[in-house]
Amino acid sequence: MIYLDNAASTQVHEEVFQEMLPYFKEQYGNPSSIHRYGRLASKAIETARKRIAELINAKQNEILLTSGGTESNNTALFGVMRQNKAKQLITSHIEHDAILEPCRQLEKEGFDVIYLPVNNYGMIDIEKLKHSITKETALVSVMFANNEVGTIQPIKKVAQICKQHNVLFHTDAIQAVGKIPIDVKEIGVDLLSISSHKINGPKGIGALYIRDGTTLDPFILGGGQENGMRSGTENVANIVGFGKACHLAKEHLGKNAAHMKSLRDHLTSRIVSEISHVSVNGNVENKTPNNAHFTFLGVNGEDLIIKLDEFGIAASTGSACSVKTQKASHVLMAMGFSHEQITGSLRITVGLYNTIPEMDQTVDILKKTIQELRSVSPFKTKYGF
Ligand SMILES: *Cc1c(COP(=O)(O)O)cnc(C)c1O
Repeated sequence: MIYLDNAASTQVHEEVFQEMLPYFKEQYGNPSSIHRYGRLASKAIETARKRIAELINAKQNEILLTSGGTESNNTALFGVMRQNKAKQLITSHIEHDAILEPCRQLEKEGFDVIYLPVNNYGMIDIEKLKHSITKETALVSVMFANNEVGTIQPIKKVAQICKQHNVLFHTDAIQAVGKIPIDVKEIGVDLLSISSHKINGPKGIGALYIRDGTTLDPFILGGGQENGMRSGTENVANIVGFGKACHLAKEHLGKNAAHMKSLRDHLTSRIVSEISHVSVNGNVENKTPNNAHFTFLGVNGEDLIIKLDEFGIAASTGSACSVKTQKASHVLMAMGFSHEQITGSLRITVGLYNTIPEMDQTVDILKKTIQELRSVSPFKTKYGF
């Protein structure tokens, strides 16, 4: 098996798994308890929180633990907007559904949401952002790196514009964390979402960075855990695993990014030189090191994925979350792709455990499979396959 869907989820590191185990077995106390079981659990959470903070150069008290990236995004958007008299939120057309769906809900609640357009490479229009901010704007939420095409936004510039206009800035950094260095202080961001399972940690755990002095309305109420911001007994084992994953991601960031980039670049250069009628999508100059996104004309991406799966290769047409709903990628549509281009799209996202021989094997199988699919394609004569 060759797993090339690391933007959807990643393998949990063995060291992460080992560090989690005691919290299922011996150290099962409730972190809110006063006895030593409780204190041990509570201490483990704070160690993890410190490690999560360190990965993005935040302070420990600026990290809110959540059930994952989706909840972090929801907390940021609802938390800011519902407590604010200002009525407007600015985001982009290419956000993950974990931003777009809360936006739709906010629109139902009477808030005004502006969606920034993007160019062919998936870059937002900075001028448009400047012109969209009004006295009514409470929050700007623009993703750091896109999950389908890997495009990295000019986040620091967005943060500066928000600061000039006294508007809060949130970024969904879930695809960027662990792949490119992130320093929340240097960027000047107010809120930033992270997810554990995209960086070789367990699923169902994430964090929201909340800059000191930024206030949000909590929306999970109960026992008052997480400073009253998110009630519910903490998922100690997952938190510990997430902390370890962040620690490892920080320690090996440069090496990891270089490894992923070398795999991705090898794969891409072979595909471009050995397969015809292909385009490489996203901002090739400025994308996450693990992302490769292609359009193969005359091929149906879903047929391709099924064929690849038969050969033991796991890839994707785009966002894992949209596949089940069977709708065309809103990201590629916003980038101005035609229906045919969207249909022929394939996302390959490499991970830390992939190897160069796996890339070669993938290209060999892709060549064969695409040739087969094109030989029966309705576009056969149009392109002269
Ligand atoms: C995976 C992902 C999410 C959702 O995170 P979960 O932890 O799976 O809830 C949100 N945004 C982006 C960009 C993602 O890639």
